[in-house]
Amino acid sequence: MNYGFVINTGNCIGCHACSTACKSENQVPLGVQRTWVKTTEQGRYPDVTRHFQVTRCNHCANPPCVRSCPTTAMYQRDDGIVEFDPDVCIGCKACIQACPYDAIHIDPDSGTASKCHYCAHRVDVGQEPACVVVCPEHAIIAGDMDDPKSEISAILATKHVTVRKPEQGTSPKLFYVNGNELALHPTAKAAGESFWNSDVVTHHHGPAPEMGDASHKLPGTDGTAYHGAQLREAQDQGAPWNGPIQFGGTAAEQMSQVVWNAQHDIHWHWPIPAYIVTKAAAGGLVLAMVPLILGSASASGMMVIALALVVALMVATNGLLLYDLERPERFLFLLIRPQWRSWVARAAWILTGFTALSSFWFGVELLAYVGWVSPGNLSLARWFFGVPLVPLSLATGTYTAFLFAQAEGRDFWQSPVTPVHMLMQTFYMGALAALTVGSLVGLGDVTMERFQNFGLATMGLSLVLVLFGEFGVSRASELAVRAQREIQWGAWKHHFWGGLAVGLVLPMLLILVSSYLALPALLAAGAGLFAYELAFVLAPQQIQNS
Ligand code: SF4
Repeated sequence: MNYGFVINTGNCIGCHACSTACKSENQVPLGVQRTWVKTTEQGRYPDVTRHFQVTRCNHCANPPCVRSCPTTAMYQRDDGIVEFDPDVCIGCKACIQACPYDAIHIDPDSGTASKCHYCAHRVDVGQEPACVVVCPEHAIIAGDMDDPKSEISAILATKHVTVRKPEQGTSPKLFYVNGNELALHPTAKAAGESFWNSDVVTHHHGPAPEMGDASHKLPGTDGTAYHGAQLREAQDQGAPWNGPIQFGGTAAEQMSQVVWNAQHDIHWHWPIPAYIVTKAAAGGLVLAMVPLILGSASASGMMVIALALVVALMVATNGLLLYDLERPERFLFLLIRPQWRSWVARAAWILTGFTALSSFWFGVELLAYVGWVSPGNLSLARWFFGVPLVPLSLATGTYTAFLFAQAEGRDFWQSPVTPVHMLMQTFYMGALAALTVGSLVGLGDVTMERFQNFGLATMGLSLVLVLFGEFGVSRASELAVRAQREIQWGAWKHHFWGGLAVGLVLPMLLILVSSYLALPALLAAGAGLFAYELAFVLAPQQIQNS
């Protein structure tokens, strides 16, 4: 068994019976869709065509959403259907970031992931999906592609078919007959702020993108594209115009526009960049302290203060992560039913291990400071906690780079430079935190100078990696290029350049003046890193994938 869909867009009349039947069959709440009819218009007046594309989950043969799900809530059945289990979904939204097709949304009633599931409950009792049954034009064909006698196999054997974004390597199993380039290609034309029969409820979560469409000059058009206020201004100035107001499209003789599409939203917000900052500082501070203290048996106020700071940062980190879950009360599912290919599951174990070990170590250091632990036991405890905390600190600081890379719906996050950059972030945040603690307890000048030099070197390297690595190389993917431009030169440019200036250049200057200016340097580095990461996390999500 290998279920798939064929959608003959030439037969579709845009009646929305399929999306309505899906809503009814699956009790889909208002404001979200499991399937929708993406509608585009193209042509030169009066020869204008409207094109309907039924759009939904592709039930990919190689589904990245399944790989990224930390609790196996999203899974692939033996018959090829990509199904989900809302009872074990924690609402981490990793599957949404992994899907390159915007096929998944958060159900506003349950707070869990939701999408087309091929009406698996109907298929299991020998019925076809509701959309197939209700379509008056037989535009949707469902069936077993392994059965050579099935209608779907016959169509696939005899007709030219296309899929959405084949370059993603997901092997979609939804095939379009008479597919339309403008509808298939999500960035050919960005949707405007309003559609033909509804408002778009888009939450920008940050500045609205400035760069507009990726392909401003579609084949056969005059290449003149106007957006929003620009459009009305162009009309006032007498731009060629033969029809009603066009939204987000081209007010020219030749037009191409998206007039209906699914709601696009941003799912990872400010808590993600915030926790990147807190865990980088915590991991880096432990890395700075371990070499100083291993082998020593004397109680140390510096260690008590440093580890208290680490514990506080990890409380903040874990709190931010919980806050970002749609179903935080299910957090334990990450630990008791982990899906080990998911970096969200791996992250849960890394953070739990790091937080537990550093908290116990803090407790031992505190007890030793008040004289309740002998020097011999303290020395042993430092080896016991310090050695495993070195790899755990490195993992805590850098795992997010791999989590981003697993989000295959965001091409910009697929950079081999990101793990190295996050390692540098961990190093310099740790060095600045160690300098801050050192300046409080009067650490010796030689050690302070070492932290100072290490901080300067790793901040300098970070700057080089950003300017000549993550943002200095041209990306192969059009989506990645768009995100890169939007961050560097578009709506997010103030976060990007301000983040580098405040987060790297200013702290370098401060600790060059004096290592005792470490606290303002640390605060500036944290604020700048947050601004930079905010742009890094939010801008790629603003680009529509359907
Ligand atoms: Fe469906 Fe997207 Fe998962 Fe592919 S990656 S199976 S389109 S949800």
